Amino acid sequence: MSVPCANLDGMTGSVQAARAAAGAGRGERLLARVLAGADPSLLGPRPSDEAVGPLRHAVHLPARPGRPVDWPEWVPPAVRAAFVARGVPRPWSHQARAAELAHAGRDVVVATGTASGKSLAYQLPVLSAFAADRRATALYLSPTKALAADQLRALSALELPDVRAAPFDGDTPLAERDWARQHGRWLFSNPDMLHRSLLPRHGRWAGYLRRLRYVVLDECHTYRGLFGSHVALLLRRLLRVCARYGGRPTIVLASATVAEPAAFAGRLTGRAVTAVCDDGSPAAGRTVALWEPPLLDELTGENGAPVRRSAGAESGRMLADLVVEGARTLAFVRSRRGAELTALGAQRVLADVDPGLVPRVSAYRGGYLPEERRALEAALVRGDLLGVATTNALELGVDIAGLDAVVVAGFPGTRASFWQQAGRAGRGRDEALVVLVARDDPLDTYLVHHPDALLGAPVEGCVLDPTNPYVLGPHLACAAAELPLTEADVAALGGAAAEAVLDELVADGVLRRRPRGWYWPSSAHRPADGVDLRGAGLGQVAVVEVDTGRMLGTVEGAAAPASVHRGAVYLHRGESYVVDDLDLDAGLALVHAAAPDWRTDARSTADVAVVRVVEHRDHGVVRVSFGEVTVTTQVTAYQRRTPDGVVLETVPLDMPAQQLGTRAVWYDVDDDALLAAGLPAARIPGALHAAEHAAIGLLPLFATCDRWDVGGMSTVVHPHTGCPTVFVHDGHPGGAGFAERGHAVLVRWLAATRAAIAGCECRAGCPSCVQSPKCGNGNNPLDKPGAITVLDVVLRAVAGAGS
Ligand SMILES: [Zn+2]
Ligand SMILES: [Zn+2]
Repeated sequence: MSVPCANLDGMTGSVQAARAAAGAGRGERLLARVLAGADPSLLGPRPSDEAVGPLRHAVHLPARPGRPVDWPEWVPPAVRAAFVARGVPRPWSHQARAAELAHAGRDVVVATGTASGKSLAYQLPVLSAFAADRRATALYLSPTKALAADQLRALSALELPDVRAAPFDGDTPLAERDWARQHGRWLFSNPDMLHRSLLPRHGRWAGYLRRLRYVVLDECHTYRGLFGSHVALLLRRLLRVCARYGGRPTIVLASATVAEPAAFAGRLTGRAVTAVCDDGSPAAGRTVALWEPPLLDELTGENGAPVRRSAGAESGRMLADLVVEGARTLAFVRSRRGAELTALGAQRVLADVDPGLVPRVSAYRGGYLPEERRALEAALVRGDLLGVATTNALELGVDIAGLDAVVVAGFPGTRASFWQQAGRAGRGRDEALVVLVARDDPLDTYLVHHPDALLGAPVEGCVLDPTNPYVLGPHLACAAAELPLTEADVAALGGAAAEAVLDELVADGVLRRRPRGWYWPSSAHRPADGVDLRGAGLGQVAVVEVDTGRMLGTVEGAAAPASVHRGAVYLHRGESYVVDDLDLDAGLALVHAAAPDWRTDARSTADVAVVRVVEHRDHGVVRVSFGEVTVTTQVTAYQRRTPDGVVLETVPLDMPAQQLGTRAVWYDVDDDALLAAGLPAARIPGALHAAEHAAIGLLPLFATCDRWDVGGMSTVVHPHTGCPTVFVHDGHPGGAGFAERGHAVLVRWLAATRAAIAGCECRAGCPSCVQSPKCGNGNNPLDKPGAITVLDVVLRAVAGAGS
């Protein structure tokens, strides 16, 4: 883990940090400056045990010394010399340990902090294998081309002979692909290329695959949910084809933060994987502050709810304060437009305070070109630029470290991302400041009020479900087209779940069953072409710009009515467009570029039908279930709203109903128990609805996902249960494992949900607790205190039943 959890210097609810500025570390002095900027009176004398202004929590993470060890004996002198020449005199303990395991042929996952040098852990065994066997090959897979390019560049900088490292991605020219196939030893690629190009033509790759010694999966926590389920089956396909040619590669995985890394890596690869978590790299001391912008008096949002100052505006002000202090600062903002507004906000403040500093603040809007990123890095390192506001585009593949401060505007969704961003701050013995500025969202609210959830051991698991029939089906077809499937293959590819899917594929004429296995009948086309690893396998709607005919991207067919209906504001890479027309039959949404100062939210009705109960527990007045459901939704209208959420207009829409077969976790409660707890019948709908929203908002704390990956429905009487019921379901066909994870950790999840609601200072519900930006019902009705009552009844019953 990246954080020395046992050594947290808790300063909950106090500003010792701020007021002990004299003599304190640089991070704490910077925090004092930021606090003074929020409200100068905050630096005066105050009771020490009280939260001050927007500062909810501050901790000091002490510096951690590095633990270097000797090079493993099997590392060839030339490889060792190359690293020494690049400024690595000796490996850190975790690098050597992981490399030893991989060298011994053990599959290993390195789960240590950002910038802890995970690359060395796989470079050592691969390069050593290359030196020992002149024909050995290796495959590096990363989720993005940019990351693969950076890793390839770092490897090339070692200037070792005979490594013959080469990119193999969608941008690689055909001639270079041929060279890579015939001569390349270490290919830098991504799952999509493996799926579409390499495996379908594996015969031409036989030599490479036979000699494949290592497969490296970098940033493996990105292989989660539906995409992770696809990649899990893709890896099984790869290993099967390798085995056909006599190859058995060792797998090395890497991730900065993943809960239960060995178990996750095991699910992803289908093999027993050893985890190396004990980080031996040094870390600079850092002050981490958790910040909750104040509620604004003058503004109200939906249904009169209070509104907080936006995380972006607050971050802009902080950026200015830090630049005045001469602190080189990076502010991470969720959208490109938000990043620009944050930089503008900082410049506006500086124009009053010190106009000379205005040009030293910038938004990073340079896209993803390597040279632009290098220029930005250099300007920040030199100090020409002091403050940069950027989107998460900078998160991966940019070599900026050693900054004085990092401001994170809004929790980036996972602890891994947060630490990746925070990891840019601090160098050597220079203390640094990291500030997380909460957005008005239940998860952000929970985190700033419960710092252990962010700073302690990770709770979010990376879930995936390779037995999802919607994922299994296409991969079984692809696998059969690669090599006929045997009984043993089917066992490795999913067992009983795979058999059931194969029966359907045979019945539909997709595959043929013969005595020796399952066959893909046609050699004319390959099934891989029709399978999108990053999609749900349903129809896609192409989003096309009318003026230019340029395709901007695709939207899942199921999500299209709510996201690209006529009149919708559609965001793509931080640019905004307005939808002119949606043709679901043609799979086409036509848009034009526009930057209206409103956003749109679809209104919809939803219904959940229980298809099959997989698990059911009876806790007296409460029942908890997990199973297969059909979710029927219909988009009925959309609302135009100001950025603050004020509704400008409601426009009716005529859209077909959509059906989604997926998985859900649900609980149902006896009416009597709610009545007895003081919740009259009239308040039950709003209470259930509020509890549902907050639970969806908190699920990403336990299952690495976006709140948009899951949906929910609550009702005072459901036909299946006959009682007040709350459903939370996966948003993808067949499920992606999120609801299942929620079911597995139900008590912790609902307890955190209750705490997030209770911890919000608003009176009757706001976006920080029970309002949802994706509510199909306009956040109505919502009963914040009622939600707490519902959750108390559920938790008492479930915990009381010893679960
Ligand atoms: Zn609230
Ligand atoms: Zn709702």
